Amino acid sequence: MKIFLGDKLVDEKDAVVSVFDHGLLYGDGVFEGIRAYNNRIFLLDEHIDRLYDSAKAIALKIPMSKEEMSNAVIETCKANEIADGYIRLVVTRGKGTLGLNPYLCNKAQIIIIAAKIQLYPQELYENGLKIVTVGTIRNHPEAINPRIKSLNYLNNIMAKIEAINAGCMECLMLNHKGEVAEASGDNIFAIKNGVITTPPSNCGSLEGLTRNKVMEIARAAGYEVREAIMARYDLYVANEVFLTGTAAEIISVVDIDKREIGDGKPGKVTTELAGLYAKCAHSEGTLIV
Ligand code: PMP
Repeated sequence: MKIFLGDKLVDEKDAVVSVFDHGLLYGDGVFEGIRAYNNRIFLLDEHIDRLYDSAKAIALKIPMSKEEMSNAVIETCKANEIADGYIRLVVTRGKGTLGLNPYLCNKAQIIIIAAKIQLYPQELYENGLKIVTVGTIRNHPEAINPRIKSLNYLNNIMAKIEAINAGCMECLMLNHKGEVAEASGDNIFAIKNGVITTPPSNCGSLEGLTRNKVMEIARAAGYEVREAIMARYDLYVANEVFLTGTAAEIISVVDIDKREIGDGKPGKVTTELAGLYAKCAHSEGTLIV
């Protein structure tokens, strides 16, 4: 496998970073997870924009223009013959001292990995997920804003641990006010009487690109789509609930805290949206040439 490291492609065995890299020492950096379908990179510009916004928010200067970064992603896919796959784009603060001071890190480190995607088991898409609300609340926006896709994922990992300990693969995270935020690695939507609702992105979630695309697709299909503050009650009494994410795409939630959602099976609207999303993901995007 070839890895893009710094400013060029190298063999995987040579893709090594310093143990003094602040990405490793402090989770100081930002990242993106991107999908390629049919030799096209889906939502590449949107991912690059979010990466640079995340970097800006943590005062990290990426030593490459957006165009150069897009080209580096395409080159990495080409070098690994990835036409359908998953791309991990990471920018760390770079090598520094053992102290926190990020200004002592001379240059941000860029890492791009393009690999085959590990899909969730098909069974989960057919039967839907069971999730639980966890005690770990999503980061307070004035601590680490969840809109920043930072390398510091401990908040989500703590939630994931609780979910797994409760026998679930995903969970519901609330914000510091007890409002619905998101899952540990996906955004959340509810459908009630044909109206599709998701929390606004300033309610303690990452502004997911799949989320944004699904809202666009649903509106184009004639659905009313709202961004509104949600309580757990809104999820419990919904007709359908689903999660969205680059890796998961659209997946039904059929049980939350032992409340069956709808009739306990993936719903009609969710299935329709998943079909429309797949069509879009397989036909749009930046060509890998
Ligand atoms: N929330 C969190 C915490 C995430 O890590 C992700 C990405 N896996 C998402 C939501 C979904 O974002 P996107 O649709 O851009 O992948």
